[in-house]
Amino acid sequence: MVGVVLRNVTKRWGSFTGVHAVDLVIGDREFVVFLGPSGCGKTTTMRMIAGLEDPSDGEILIGDRVVNDLEPKDRDVAMVFQNYGLYPNLTVYENIRFPLKVRRVDASTHDARVRKAAAMVELGDLLHRRPKELSGGQRQRVALARAIVREPAVFLMDEPLSNLDAKLRVSTRAQIKNLQHELKVTTIYVTHDQIEAMTLADRVVVMNKGRFQQVGTPTEIYDRPANTFVAGFIGSPAMNLMDGAVAAGVFEAPGVRVPGLVGYPDGPATLGFRAEDAEVAAGPGGEIAAPVYSIELLGDATLVSVRVGPALVAARAPKTFRAEIGDPVSFRIGAAGCHVFDSASGERIE
Ligand code: ATP
Repeated sequence: MVGVVLRNVTKRWGSFTGVHAVDLVIGDREFVVFLGPSGCGKTTTMRMIAGLEDPSDGEILIGDRVVNDLEPKDRDVAMVFQNYGLYPNLTVYENIRFPLKVRRVDASTHDARVRKAAAMVELGDLLHRRPKELSGGQRQRVALARAIVREPAVFLMDEPLSNLDAKLRVSTRAQIKNLQHELKVTTIYVTHDQIEAMTLADRVVVMNKGRFQQVGTPTEIYDRPANTFVAGFIGSPAMNLMDGAVAAGVFEAPGVRVPGLVGYPDGPATLGFRAEDAEVAAGPGGEIAAPVYSIELLGDATLVSVRVGPALVAARAPKTFRAEIGDPVSFRIGAAGCHVFDSASGERIE
């Protein structure tokens, strides 16, 4: 059983704190994704787990060992980076075998282990090639095979797909998910791409400014975002957010009136709803009525946006819906599709 535990882990450089006292228990075989915008501290957190960066405070456990004082090579983790880190002069075969040689693994086992790892990422036919003779996707698979061959307790992956084109990213993503399922190895994965996080993770850790904003399954963070940061970061499009006020169960903002919000305190509030939770109609009638600001054809749907004060809010209409910019439209939301946040703190209410 090899999980990973972070206890009060902090990273400071001088007066700047990159990671603020984070706590997390990652289960054996769990796939956890650190997700957040550039500079939020996700890579630093992973580098501390790998041993490439020392925490300023706190404890890191891998399995039941505190690893703070262990060298990276003694932590039983294998890392995969976005820039692959392959040796240009070595063949694919030699690149994959490299960690076994370095760790003085019994040489009689190398060939079988290299071939097995290569087969898992469908590189069996390319073992004699050198990195420069491979595509980006193939190089990334060599990097994956090199991590697999070690049979580590934990995989650490830092944006492994970010140098691949969009199509290859989708297929390699599916392959990583499948591999992790087959290998049953605890995996920590860093990305700023929320779709990658949602599709890969058992649990997502949403980070901002060095703090964990929410830790939960993809469904939990999508359905019940803990604050406006998570609400605005997850989903494509992200959740619509409008500033206004609740009074006697009715939310009001310019051009918006949503009744039926029972149990919320009176006062300033931020109301959120997802584009797919609203119905769009031509003319007035819904909780939001405004002229069309923009209309985007998505293929399977039409995204209709209107302005609410300074905010732009969007709803998904059927793909056959047509309107011109400036035409009056209305969105019917219903209280059930609404999320209410405290205006000052941004925290979810209830
Ligand atoms: P990205 O997606 O851009 O890699 P990230 O979320 O992984 O971002 P980190 O690399 O963890 O972010 O960096 C977190 C913060 O710590 C950033 O503000 C960064 O500028 C800062 N930082 C990172 N390394 C150092 C360092 N050696 N000295 C000072 N500040 C640092």
